[in-house]
Amino acid sequence: MSSEAQEKWAMNANIAMAVVLPLGELAAIGVTSWVVVGAALDAGGATRIGILFGYCLLLLVLLIAFATLVLQVWVNPGRVRKSEEATPLGDVYLCNHTGDERFCSDCGMTKPNRTSHCHILGFCIDRYDHYCPYASGAVSATTHKNFFLFVLYASFYTLFSSITIAVFLKERIDRSDSKPASWIAALTVSSLFFFFSAGMVAESMKNLLANMTSVENLKKGATQYIAVRGRAANALQTPILNPRLRQITSVIGETERDGQFYIIFMLNPGFGPLWRRGPMENFKSVMGESFLDWANPFSRSPIVKAGKDELRYTWGFSVEALMLEYGCGTFSRNRPKHLSIVSGEKSSVFRVRG
Ligand SMILES: [Zn+2]
Repeated sequence: MSSEAQEKWAMNANIAMAVVLPLGELAAIGVTSWVVVGAALDAGGATRIGILFGYCLLLLVLLIAFATLVLQVWVNPGRVRKSEEATPLGDVYLCNHTGDERFCSDCGMTKPNRTSHCHILGFCIDRYDHYCPYASGAVSATTHKNFFLFVLYASFYTLFSSITIAVFLKERIDRSDSKPASWIAALTVSSLFFFFSAGMVAESMKNLLANMTSVENLKKGATQYIAVRGRAANALQTPILNPRLRQITSVIGETERDGQFYIIFMLNPGFGPLWRRGPMENFKSVMGESFLDWANPFSRSPIVKAGKDELRYTWGFSVEALMLEYGCGTFSRNRPKHLSIVSGEKSSVFRVRG
C-alpha cells in the first residue's frame, strides 16, 4: 500500500471509530441502566427512590450533554475555509521568522491565529484541540465547551453507577453468593470509564485554566514567532527594558503587511501560553460568564457566539507586555500602568514604558 493510501485508510478507520465508539458508549449505558435499575427495584423504600432519582437525573444530564456534543461535532466542527484566510491581521499575528503568516500546505492557505490542521479530517480547524473518537470527532473552538461538559457529566454518572453496583453486588454476594456476569461487566465498564473521563476532566481543566489547547501545549517547548503592530521605528536597536521579558524574547526583524508596520519577535520556549490571562478569565472565555452558563450544555460558548471575529481571542498578559514595551498595538481598555507577566512558573510585575 502506498503511503497516501495508508494515510487515507487510517483516516477512514479513525472516522469509523468515531461512529462505533459512541454507539458502544450508548450500549454500555444501556447495560448499566438495566443493572442499576434492577438493583434499585430489589431494594426497598427510600433507598429505591433515592437511587432511581439520582440515577435518572445523572443519566438525563449526560445524555443531553452527549447529544449536544455529537450534534455540534458533526454539524459545525470549526472548519476554517480558504475564503477566511483574508481576515485582517490585527494587532498581533503568529508568523515565521521572516514575518510571513503560518501556512497550511495541505489546505493551501494561510492559517489564522489558533488554527491547526487536523490530519484525520483533512482540514484546518479553529482552536483545534484533538480528535476524540469517544466524542465522535474534533474538539475545537465550536465543541470544546460541549466536550468538557460531556466528560464532566460522564465522570459524575460513572462514579454514581460504579458505587451503586459495587454496593449491591457485595450485598448480593453476602446474601446468596451469586455473582451475575452482567453486574460484573457493568461494574468493570463503568469504573473504567470513570477513570478515563475523570482523567479527561483534569486534563481539560488544566488547559482551560491556562487558555491553551492540546496542540498549543505541544508547542510549549518550541521557539515561536509573533508579529506585533507598532510604530515604524528602529525596534531592532531598542532594547527590551523588562529583565524577565528580555530573557524570554527578542526582536529579530521588522516587516510591512497590509500597509501596516509590524515588529517580529522570537519567543523562547519559556515564554508560556500566548493567550494566558487570569485563570478565571481563561476559563470564562470558553465556558461562559456565570455558573448557569458553565453547567448548561445548551448555552453556547462565547467563542462560538463571537462567530469568526478574530478579536474573540484576547492575547495573554505576556504578549500584551510586549505590545506595551514597544508602544505597539491598540488597547481599547485603559492602558495599565503596571502589568504582571506570568511565564512558566514565575510571575513578575513591572512598570510599563511611558
Ligand atoms: Zn490545513
